[in-house]
Amino acid sequence: MTLHIDDNLEQADDGTVTCRHCGAVIGIATDMFRNARVRVSAPQEAGPSVRSDPRHFTDRDVVLRQTFCPECLVLLQAEIVPGDEPSARTRSLAVQA
Ligand SMILES: [Zn+2]
Repeated sequence: MTLHIDDNLEQADDGTVTCRHCGAVIGIATDMFRNARVRVSAPQEAGPSVRSDPRHFTDRDVVLRQTFCPECLVLLQAEIVPGDEPSARTRSLAVQA
């Protein structure tokens, strides 16, 4: 049975995570974005609603990190985060041991 993770991702019985638009393998249940493409840019590139310079609030570099399907380039995830931190967002159907 295929499980829908969200509008863009689905997971097969064997744990393989694929793009719902083009079928590309994005990753596995425990590493969902293993094959995804990541683009890092300035937070202001997220759109006109992001106006403040993050340097007003922190000394750390803050980035817009966008994650895309490697085949059809649909946007899978976008987050504005400290650039030296891994993604804290998780969506997984894997059973935790
Ligand atoms: Zn795709």
